[in-house]
Amino acid sequence: MIEFEKIDKEYHVGDQVVKALNEVSFKIEQGKLTIILGPSGSGKSTLLNILGGMDRPTRGTVKFNDQLVSKLNDHELTDYRRKVVGFVFQFYNLIPSLTALENVAIAAQLNNNDYQAEDYLSQVGLSERLNNFPNQMSGGEMQRVSIARALSKKPKLLLCDEPTGALDSKTSIKIMKILQDISKSSETAVVMVTHNPKFEQYADHVIRLKDGQIEKTYDNENPKIVE
Ligand code: ADP
Ligand code: ADP
Repeated sequence: MIEFEKIDKEYHVGDQVVKALNEVSFKIEQGKLTIILGPSGSGKSTLLNILGGMDRPTRGTVKFNDQLVSKLNDHELTDYRRKVVGFVFQFYNLIPSLTALENVAIAAQLNNNDYQAEDYLSQVGLSERLNNFPNQMSGGEMQRVSIARALSKKPKLLLCDEPTGALDSKTSIKIMKILQDISKSSETAVVMVTHNPKFEQYADHVIRLKDGQIEKTYDNENPKIVE
């Protein structure tokens, strides 16, 4: 579904060149939960920004199905970002003055999705929290609202940047279950970026980055399924 071919990304800082990604190639497939794992500075954010259409590679090609994302102009890239990609962040980015339901409904409306916001919140197990404001919810609940909001775009690709980074262990595992369920039951490929190796066991596909290069990439034959 998405293919990176020999992606390089260089940043220019003064007269220095920082090579953030060096000949990175991989595929992301529908129906799979992919984890991009690597320590700080390994190139995860850079890779995520290119996947999400927020930035462009210096060299190499990015394909989404038959579309060459790396050749899109600014307008087309914005369209790709809006229509193809859903985003989940570490700190949720919910609108504090809106309830859970309103946070999701407003996103659904912006994306002309007439499917009900309630249904997305029910999918993440939050039917009992529709009228709660963010400050009346736990971290895990806020992250579930933010996942429901991302799903209301009907994205082909759900990009999750350290989605468990601010959550305790038990709550993190609940979020992993939701991400597993989404990757299995919808048309959405799920990609999670994290520095924490303990989540590797839950993924169908693992891409390990080190110093801007792929250290290892493999399919997990028996990913641990959260019950
Ligand atoms: P990670 O997300 O794994 O911490 P990053 O993609 O943020 O890694 O960074 C990869 C490398 O690129 C690091 O050496 C970092 O300092 C450098 N880098 C990232 N963003 C920029 C930028 N905007 N300008 C210059 N260097 C950058
Ligand atoms: P989860 O494990 O799903 O994140 P918790 O067990 O942490 O949920 O929280 C259960 C309930 O406690 C929540 O529904 C919420 O009402 C309340 N709660 C937990 N943390 C907070 C918080 N930081 N602020 C307000 N309410 C909270």
